[in-house]
Amino acid sequence: LLRRLTSALALSLAVASPASALAQRAPGRASSGGLEAAPGLAALRVEPRVSYGAPPPSRRAAWARFTHASASPSSWQALWDRDTLAPLRIFGAGIPAPGTVASPHAAEAHARAFLDAHRDLLAPRTTPAELRLVANDLDAGLRTVAFEQLARVDGAGLVPVVGGRVSVRYRSDRLFVLASEIVPPSPLPAPRLDPASAAIAAASWIAEAHAVATLREGPELVALPLVGSGRVELRAAYRVVFDAASPRARWAVYVDAASDTGAPLAREQLLRFDQATIAFDAPVRAPQLGRTTFPARALDLQVDGAALDTDDAGAFSWMSTGMPAAVTVGVAGPLVHVVNQAGAAATSAESASDGQSLLWSLADDEYGDAQLSAFIHGSKIQAHARTIAPTMPFLHGQLQILPSEADPQGCNAFWDGGALNFFRQNGMCNNTARVADVVYHEFGHGFHQNAVIAGAGALDPSLGEAAGDTMAVSYTLDASMAPGFYLNGPMPLRQLDNTAHWPEDISAWDPHETGLIWGGAMWDLRRNLTEELGPGPGNALTDQLYYQALRRSSSIPTTYAEILAADDDDGDLSNGTPHVCSINRAFLEHGLAPMLNEAGLVLAHTPLSVLAPGEGPYPLEVTSKVLYPQCAGAKPVDSISLSFHQLGGGPGTGTLTAQGSSWVGTLPSVPDGTSLRYSIFAGVGGDLTELPSNPADDEYRVFVGDTVPIYCNDFESQIDGWAFSGGKGDKGDFAWGAPAGASGDPDAAFSGQKVLGDRLSGSGAYNAAHTSAATSPVIDVGEEKHVRLQVRRWLTVQDGFYDQATIYANGQQIWQNAGTDSSQGGLDHVDAEWRFEDIDVTPYIAPGTSTVQIRFELVSDKTAQRGGWNLDDFCIVAWHPAPPSSTSSSSGASSSSGGPAPASEGGCACAAPGRRVADEPRTGAALAALMALAAATRRKRAARVALRVQRRRAGPRSRA
Ligand SMILES: [Zn+2]
Repeated sequence: LLRRLTSALALSLAVASPASALAQRAPGRASSGGLEAAPGLAALRVEPRVSYGAPPPSRRAAWARFTHASASPSSWQALWDRDTLAPLRIFGAGIPAPGTVASPHAAEAHARAFLDAHRDLLAPRTTPAELRLVANDLDAGLRTVAFEQLARVDGAGLVPVVGGRVSVRYRSDRLFVLASEIVPPSPLPAPRLDPASAAIAAASWIAEAHAVATLREGPELVALPLVGSGRVELRAAYRVVFDAASPRARWAVYVDAASDTGAPLAREQLLRFDQATIAFDAPVRAPQLGRTTFPARALDLQVDGAALDTDDAGAFSWMSTGMPAAVTVGVAGPLVHVVNQAGAAATSAESASDGQSLLWSLADDEYGDAQLSAFIHGSKIQAHARTIAPTMPFLHGQLQILPSEADPQGCNAFWDGGALNFFRQNGMCNNTARVADVVYHEFGHGFHQNAVIAGAGALDPSLGEAAGDTMAVSYTLDASMAPGFYLNGPMPLRQLDNTAHWPEDISAWDPHETGLIWGGAMWDLRRNLTEELGPGPGNALTDQLYYQALRRSSSIPTTYAEILAADDDDGDLSNGTPHVCSINRAFLEHGLAPMLNEAGLVLAHTPLSVLAPGEGPYPLEVTSKVLYPQCAGAKPVDSISLSFHQLGGGPGTGTLTAQGSSWVGTLPSVPDGTSLRYSIFAGVGGDLTELPSNPADDEYRVFVGDTVPIYCNDFESQIDGWAFSGGKGDKGDFAWGAPAGASGDPDAAFSGQKVLGDRLSGSGAYNAAHTSAATSPVIDVGEEKHVRLQVRRWLTVQDGFYDQATIYANGQQIWQNAGTDSSQGGLDHVDAEWRFEDIDVTPYIAPGTSTVQIRFELVSDKTAQRGGWNLDDFCIVAWHPAPPSSTSSSSGASSSSGGPAPASEGGCACAAPGRRVADEPRTGAALAALMALAAATRRKRAARVALRVQRRRAGPRSRA
């Protein structure tokens, strides 16, 4: 009957139980045994509740009688089970027991006699028949005599008590250890359940978690102690053992024999899964800065020939054989695969016993340690990144790490688009796989690559280096990046707690150095957000903003908008974002936010350009606006001042006074025909901000005098007579069209739609290692005595050491962008607004001639390219000195001088005679324009740039 029942059960379970979620998991860490109460029943204790010391009151008399029968009563100790009251272990001076070691019979006789004499202590209320001898063992001079507890069930005789036992130990013919795990007996009524029903009841419980279960033993009637939750009781039960699969288990199930419905009481996992853990010894940050042990998580192992992986704690388990398991360890797992580049993969044969902690160290072997370090730190940073981007597939695949590559330079590591690569130790630097932060940094490159949304973000080099450094910082929470990179010291490779500032600290040759600007901003953001929100949420938000910025940013300057977009909660950035103040504070410090303080203070100024003579002093106005008044750092503008000088003359200064949100002041009256230059300085919270914002050209141009156009072209309808040329007989990269805002180009023309400029579409950047030029028609100036070039320019070009933007008049240079003379020069010319240029070209018109031809040229090298020239509203004008008799040149008087008509609407903005021309406010001059104008450039930083220029002049001129 049972055999048929068994196969029927196995079949029905196999059909009825779909693979459960459990079935998808490896056995992993299985139950280590112990009784588990059936659902709905009070929990059973997992471990005994024990203590030494005073016996329970009910055993006090028995304990006293036992100890006083001994020659040394005070020598005895007892460990009491506080639930069953049994003396789990009693040990002391010992009691003479002649012949018990040599003779099993003498030992059994002594044991039975002793148990009878001290039954009240060791097995109260049991009868001799309820203790069945099950062992009489001699091992290395220690004899053990052991009895199993039985219990009487009405109508069924004696049955085993599960876990009930009592035993004694002899050595040197002395009884010196006693052990009782006797369960207090109680009357057990006759079973009401038949065994087959018990098996079915047991099987249905097991079927809840296993697809397949096969009857292995039973049903057998037993007495089951239920101990726990404040109760100790003995119940008659059927014990049924099933082998189960999916997942593998062997369950002993106990079904209440006194119930007629087959209620399960408890079950016990009988398979003993041994477990051990494995850890690797690896450098904490670098070999000379301390080592520790790290759990080796998700590591492939062979255990007794079977493949398995460690869990997140480095633990692994296997089915017990009672013998130590043979374990083979390597440096690969499902998530990280280390491939040694200096020989065979590190491997180790170990032996593991249950509960053991294995430790693998190759600390004295560079290539071995590099593999262990790569595995540990690769696993750690990958797990950390999963907390930032849980769904990124890259973080769930197998990370390839290639340590100990041979390289003549060393001191480096790289991400090759698919794997982390590390170089061997040399005379200066550690093997880079042994430097934790370098592993994190290279991993950050992979994270960046996998984060980018195509068409939005990009793998910009300096942004990428900052991404790597910030990944390391995100994990270590230490602004010192890669301490111990160099041998024999704690010096970090880079410092993220810095003041690196855009654009002054751009390095033309090292994206790691440029990356410090964004890395510094992200460190400051982390500090601000942890101060604002606390360490946990602050770091988590910083990491999330970091990730979101990498997804959508294409360069360091573009990160500000992306950080705001990620932080925003209402699709409106004009009112800020929940953390805009912290973000602004961090990004302002590094020149990456387009305002003057965290509250979003912006300054706007419409520069003066051509002024009528005799009408001075000339008013000028600066307006300020606070975009985010909710920020604590909403500081007002303290002061606005002015510095100016006449070309070839002395300097002067002035002060603007506040009128509402405006500041007003004047440029002084100057003689007719004067070129003036001026700069504006706003003091905000102790910092000075300068307009115009361009360290390479920080003065606005003004011409005071009546001018008449000779030739003007606003580049809207035609560029007749203009020629574009390249340095190799080609056309170069000049184009005629609408600028698109790429690579530093403006978003829009100064007037109308079109401009002339170096490459206006696509990347917007000028050609590398090339010469391009735009040359005007030959312009006849007739009899004019004072001829000037007046043009609007928006120029972005690398430091003049590398790239030269030059204006020629009749082949002679009349202007060139500033430059350092250093290979590390960072004095890029970056216009942030349409700038008015005014140059007297009269000296370049040879005597006896009456023509002028203007040429705009850009000569570039192979290093960084920017947007180049953008030109609009080009004019050659003549200055007509005001008549000597006239004290003031009125508009009416000048227009009566009969010069050429002013340019038409929407055309050239050149001055009509006598008309004071300040630039008209641009159509749609909105927030964006205001913000662009206000780009923070601090005087103190300009001074620092100058210092650096000095310092760098001493450096080598290599362009590495
Ligand atoms: Zn890197």
